[in-house]
Amino acid sequence: MAKCDICKTKIESTFLNKILGSYIKDNKGKKHLLCPECQKKHPKKAEALKKL
Ligand SMILES: [Zn+2]
Repeated sequence: MAKCDICKTKIESTFLNKILGSYIKDNKGKKHLLCPECQKKHPKKAEALKKL
């Protein structure tokens, strides 16, 4: 199961296999998955990346 890259919470996916979170890319182009909670806490991508 997918996990949030900041808080390590497990992220559910819907029956359509859509993950209930979102991906952000760091400076190296690597994708990181964030849960909705962490997105709320870190609305700016730059801030979220610092927490990774
Ligand atoms: Zn999280």
